[in-house]
Amino acid sequence: MDLHTVVEVVSPARPGQWRRGDAWLGGGTALFGEPQPGVTRLLDLAASGWTPITVRDEGLEIAATCTVADVTRFAGAPEFTAFHGLATACCRAFLASFKIWNVATVGGNLCAALPAGPMIALTAALDGECLILGPADPTDGPADPADGPAGEIPADPGDGDGGPVERRVRVVDFVTGDGSTVLRDGEMLRSVTLPRASLTGLTAYRQGSLFTHGRSAALLAGRLTQAGGFVLTVTASTVRPYQLRFPELPDERHLLDELAAAIPDDAWTDDVHGLPAWRAHLTRTFAAEIRQELAA
Ligand SMILES: Cc1cc2nc3c(=O)[nH]c(=O)nc-3n(C[C@H](O)[C@H](O)[C@H](O)COP(=O)(O)OP(=O)(O)OC[C@H]3O[C@@H](n4cnc5c(N)ncnc54)[C@H](O)[C@@H]3O)c2cc1C
Repeated sequence: MDLHTVVEVVSPARPGQWRRGDAWLGGGTALFGEPQPGVTRLLDLAASGWTPITVRDEGLEIAATCTVADVTRFAGAPEFTAFHGLATACCRAFLASFKIWNVATVGGNLCAALPAGPMIALTAALDGECLILGPADPTDGPADPADGPAGEIPADPGDGDGGPVERRVRVVDFVTGDGSTVLRDGEMLRSVTLPRASLTGLTAYRQGSLFTHGRSAALLAGRLTQAGGFVLTVTASTVRPYQLRFPELPDERHLLDELAAAIPDDAWTDDVHGLPAWRAHLTRTFAAEIRQELAA
């Protein structure tokens, strides 16, 4: 839809340009999906020219502007079996046409923070870490970094010459609820880094919807770690991602007990795509199936 309050588009945009009334623009598929009465200017990140996916010593760096189509097309680093296994499945969980796939960005998916965000599932399951850039002038945006949420990795205060202030937050902590994130005014998501240690090994995945091509009601990913541990990431059925970590593959009873203890009753998503009780049931069923698949 037309955003009729928007009077200017800055393209390409850079960190530090944000002022009140601005919105960062990724692919625009969520932003243009509903009225944005408070937005008067768009800061176009998609035109920034950032390399979508870079293989680094520490792992895979995914730019915020990397599209869902870029993720599906990425065939590099075949040794990153966990990435390739989950990436295909998560992209398919994206209920959208090829037109949306070609413009919707990984960063936009995380920042829109919908429970059924498949790029949230992918990057949370692989222990992704978000690089957040904020304005250098604290009166312009971020408050004292010490006010940051639990799970935040300490901020880099910047270089003192007006450059952006960096902080890092794990993806699993980045999304705080349905449509909410840890981003403060003026901050933008620059990239997500998936550490090398999480990119190899076995994964299993389950997704369920009310109907065949429906939005995810539950999307779970399990991963065996190099040390023989087990990581289970729950998304879509809950309003924000939940992650359970075990030093070894637990038996089913232990897994289900820990799941019940970790997810409070009011954290189950309640919308037209599924009732909370059914989502909780799907989550338990999928968790047990993932455990069984990885045990085999
Ligand atoms: C037909 C259709 C089907 C869809 N299916 C799904 C689905 O199954 N699951 C799902 O999760 N979503 C779905 N969506 C919603 C949307 O397409 C996705 O969430 C998409 O990933 C958003 O990415 P984008 O790049 O288009 O974000 P945008 O629309 O550009 O931005 C979304 C929000 O994030 C902010 N933002 C964007 N990039 C950044 C950044 N780098 N830093 C800070 N803030 C930023 C924007 O200001 C805005 O508030 C669907 C949409 C359509 C139209």
